[in-house]
Amino acid sequence: ASVAEPPRIVRLDESVVNRIAAGEVIQRPVSAVKELVENSLDAGSTSISVVVKDGGLKLIQVSDNGHGIRSEDLPILCERHTTSKLSAYEDLQSIKSMGFRGEALASMTYVGHVTVTTITEGQMHGYRVSYRDGVMEHEPKPCAAVRGTQIMVENLFYNMIARRKTLQNANDDYTKIVDLISRFAIHNSSVSFSCRKHGVNRADVHTVTTLSKLDAIKTIYGISVARDLMEITASDDNPSQSIFEMNGFISNANYTAKKTTMILFINDRLVECTALKRAIEVVYSSTLPKASRPFIYMSIKLPSEHVDVNIHPTKREVSLLNQESLIETIQNAVESKLMNCNTTRTFQTQT
Ligand code: ADP
Ligand code: MG
Repeated sequence: ASVAEPPRIVRLDESVVNRIAAGEVIQRPVSAVKELVENSLDAGSTSISVVVKDGGLKLIQVSDNGHGIRSEDLPILCERHTTSKLSAYEDLQSIKSMGFRGEALASMTYVGHVTVTTITEGQMHGYRVSYRDGVMEHEPKPCAAVRGTQIMVENLFYNMIARRKTLQNANDDYTKIVDLISRFAIHNSSVSFSCRKHGVNRADVHTVTTLSKLDAIKTIYGISVARDLMEITASDDNPSQSIFEMNGFISNANYTAKKTTMILFINDRLVECTALKRAIEVVYSSTLPKASRPFIYMSIKLPSEHVDVNIHPTKREVSLLNQESLIETIQNAVESKLMNCNTTRTFQTQT
């Protein structure tokens, strides 16, 4: 019996490699919105507005009033691995910005049509330029601009037929985008956010900069949620070490919901930590008589060398040093808060 000849190994075209990688960074419209809003926050914006058409497949537009982009940087802006946030690998350890890979904008140009309008402080006019597959389609054109940057992504996944089809059949991403902007708005309560559908005047998220975090929660999730929240803080037992600090709001015994809402920021990054979420849910179900799922907004600060932000292309899951003891400390804090509110409640109903 003859064995089949081995197939030849060839080097993939760079454009193929880039498109495959891009599909990983930008998985759905909401991932593009997250990258764009993080860039706006990194640029020091105090006002960020998002417009979405057709769940983000037709159009995603994010406008900010941040520091803008230098016109001389526009030619390489959307190339892969171009960034203003990181220069040496060691910088990763102390990185404060949310971006660092220089991959987001590039990725968007491989799976959609990207147009950037930007102006920097003191300039008479701004520039507008469109990109495809990492490169400018034409020289930047002078244009009127007020302040900051506007990035438009059109026809997302136009060249990925399967992805477009699955997304079109599923519920569109608009709800996810509203949810994402809501979360950013709560944590960054000194930034005003708005999010609306294209062609609709009324915004679905709208916050103003003067809000406190609790006011922001009230504006977004409603007074009935905000009313049932308690402030929570925790830190390390040994304050001289000050390895970690946590603060936020958690629901009390009066709150009812079928699903957990967990808004988690670690070192100002919106992340998910399934282990922590489960651990808190356990505390709720064992402490409160009513079988309600909690509402949790939590901001955790750790020394940056304790957080590995580089384990996932979307930077969504982070891994933490001493994760177990950290979760335990938080569980204890939540438990004692709940015990307190539980006794107050019993006391109230008895009188
Ligand atoms: P990263 O955020 O990892 O650096 P991106 O591809 O998201 O990579 O962005 C590339 C660069 O473009 C950023 O480093 C930043 O200098 C610039 N940039 C992107 N968006 C904005 C914005 N809204 N305002 C100012 N600069 C921006
Ligand atoms: Mg970025």
